[in-house]
Amino acid sequence: MTLTLDRQTAAQQAPERRVFNFSPGPAVLPLPVLQEIQRDLLTLPGVGSSVLEISHRSTAFDGILAEAEANLRELLAIPADYRVLFLQGGASLQFSMIPINLLRGQNLPASYILTGSWGSKAVVEALREGQVHVAWDGKADNFVRVPKDGELDLPPASAYVHYTSNETIQGVQFRRPPAVGDAPLVCDVSSDFLSGPVDVRDFGLLYACAQKNAGPSGLTVVVVSDEVLERCGDDVHSMLSFRRQAEKGSRLNTPNVFGVYVFLLVTRWLRDEVGGLEAAAAGAEAKTGLIYDVLDGDGGEFYVPHAEPASRSRMNVTFRLRRGDLEKAFVAGAADRDLVALKGHRSVGGFRASLYNAMPMEGAERLRDFMLAFRASH
Ligand SMILES: *Cc1c(COP(=O)(O)O)cnc(C)c1O
Repeated sequence: MTLTLDRQTAAQQAPERRVFNFSPGPAVLPLPVLQEIQRDLLTLPGVGSSVLEISHRSTAFDGILAEAEANLRELLAIPADYRVLFLQGGASLQFSMIPINLLRGQNLPASYILTGSWGSKAVVEALREGQVHVAWDGKADNFVRVPKDGELDLPPASAYVHYTSNETIQGVQFRRPPAVGDAPLVCDVSSDFLSGPVDVRDFGLLYACAQKNAGPSGLTVVVVSDEVLERCGDDVHSMLSFRRQAEKGSRLNTPNVFGVYVFLLVTRWLRDEVGGLEAAAAGAEAKTGLIYDVLDGDGGEFYVPHAEPASRSRMNVTFRLRRGDLEKAFVAGAADRDLVALKGHRSVGGFRASLYNAMPMEGAERLRDFMLAFRASH
């Protein structure tokens, strides 16, 4: 496939219609946010330059960074003794940064709860830094559920306990944080970040790449308690040090200026248009509910859900067709109705509909209608 970036052809074409994009990430962004970016791209109001052209030390960016943090603090009700960091390297760099800062040189193990692909990747990096204890692993059942608290095998003490609130690939989500005792709870919230309220006090550290539910790729948000920052080791490369990043207010080097700007617009949209995280959670429940109702409608005869009902994700709905030979027809039929990026991850197969905050209800309704019609015609 060739990508033509020819200004003249682009100008001659009618603006393309937007499809319903069920991509797991980078994923759909709110249309009003994209429109605002487009409107202000050449000159940021009151600045006279593009946001792509301003210094990360300018007063304009001071304002952007401060408001992005303030919005996040308001949405999540982040307590005053927690820091907000805007980093780079994706959620995947956190798989390393967390054990580098909190496990290296410790006599304690770090405990990992594995409910899918991302947690399983995180544990590989932790093993490079110290002792690791797997407190629960859902792999034998192909990651179809999260554990009950009683099933966790936790050692008497851990440097921290890591889990993934929503496993994007398997579509398996915790309804509430696991009970892990006194160890700091560290959570990869990448794919359900800002999809509903959480009690930040339950966590020592939360991290999310932005490109699932909060902005563009290249930005990673970390929320970390002062108490956990104090536990971080000293002998850490500056860029990988939570403490150094916090001391420098996420400006140890040039941060992702554009990413922070888009994050600011998304958090404004969440607050002002969506109405906050309770409303976002209700929306997610309603949208995924439409699809789960279809999956449950035939008792597994036609559509086969991946996750067990009590562990189902409110962001990523995973399923396959009982008749695998119909997969191509499903993709083609969906594309005809402007429903795209529904293919499941190769490790799970089948389909995955990611219904993040920015997916309009109409997209979920259209997918439901298509799934019902597809079943009826086969
Ligand atoms: C997408 C994703 C990641 C990886 O994010 P990158 O920014 O590509 O490193 C990690 N964890 C979860 C839960 C994800 O959904």
